Amino acid sequence: MLNVSTRTAALYDRVRRVIPPIEWPTFADDIEAILDLKRQRNAVILAHNYQTPEIFHCVADIVGDSLALARKAMTAEADVIVLAGVHFMAETAKLLNPQKTVLIPDLRAGCSLADSITAEDIRLLRQRYPGVSVVTYVNTSADVKAESDICCTSGNAKAVVESLGVPRVIMLPDEYLAQNIAAQTDVQIIAWKGRCEVHERFTPADIRQLREDHPGVTVLAHPECPPEVVAEADFSGSTAAMSDYVGRQKPPRVVLMTECSMSDNVAVEHPEVEFIRPCNLCPHMKRITLANIREALEQNRHVVTIAPEIAGRARLAVERMLAV
Ligand code: SF4
Repeated sequence: MLNVSTRTAALYDRVRRVIPPIEWPTFADDIEAILDLKRQRNAVILAHNYQTPEIFHCVADIVGDSLALARKAMTAEADVIVLAGVHFMAETAKLLNPQKTVLIPDLRAGCSLADSITAEDIRLLRQRYPGVSVVTYVNTSADVKAESDICCTSGNAKAVVESLGVPRVIMLPDEYLAQNIAAQTDVQIIAWKGRCEVHERFTPADIRQLREDHPGVTVLAHPECPPEVVAEADFSGSTAAMSDYVGRQKPPRVVLMTECSMSDNVAVEHPEVEFIRPCNLCPHMKRITLANIREALEQNRHVVTIAPEIAGRARLAVERMLAV
């Protein structure tokens, strides 16, 4: 009988550039069990670009940014959807495909942006700015989405804001995303004060140091970074846009100003590109592990539920975004 490392050798080939051989046996057993459980339960795993490579490349069926995951969740035909990402992503999947069982492997997988605003905050904003449309980043709870006119992601925020055909919008909760979009559009944007705890830590000084230490490096920055970081970068876009940029332009040397695992996952697909890796980890994304994905499938936990009176209104805001 072959041992588990030998049986999973083909999977290891996908990630050998970013996972040392000595670590593989610690993953192989869970990976094999998860693949088996997916078949037994007719389940799919949706993994965000910030998940670690052994999840992203070895057990996920669908990978991408939050926009791509939302679209795929809507049409998933499996009985069970496991969201390898954070809680708001699992809620979005449930909103868009309510008949399915949606599991989040760790309930503590939150988000500093989602935590920065409540439904009550939006009701107060509406009183303060009567008649102004509310554009809400998908990195929010279903309660907050339910109070919103339309959702957006970092990949479609400008198009969503401009689709409303109004001179002024409230865009929340990410202050930096709002400021970065405001720089690209004539629509006046009223921002909230939320921040992504991963991206807010990048500074222009980091970029200057990287350029000095790694001459010729191409710098890509996520739009959740502060505007002065985006201004010093060579390109700014969502995780999907950054990944496309690397595939299209094939810069010899690149740095992605975003969560750590993103570089590992893109590097696997582009061995010809040298990745410089400043590392800012998202502690919420890292709550998801092979072990708790396995437990989620074995024990059917944690099932995501949304109160019907919230779900209907929140779904509308997400669906309006998907129609843009
Ligand atoms: S990277 Fe930032 S926006 Fe994404 S889940 Fe983590 S805290 Fe939230």
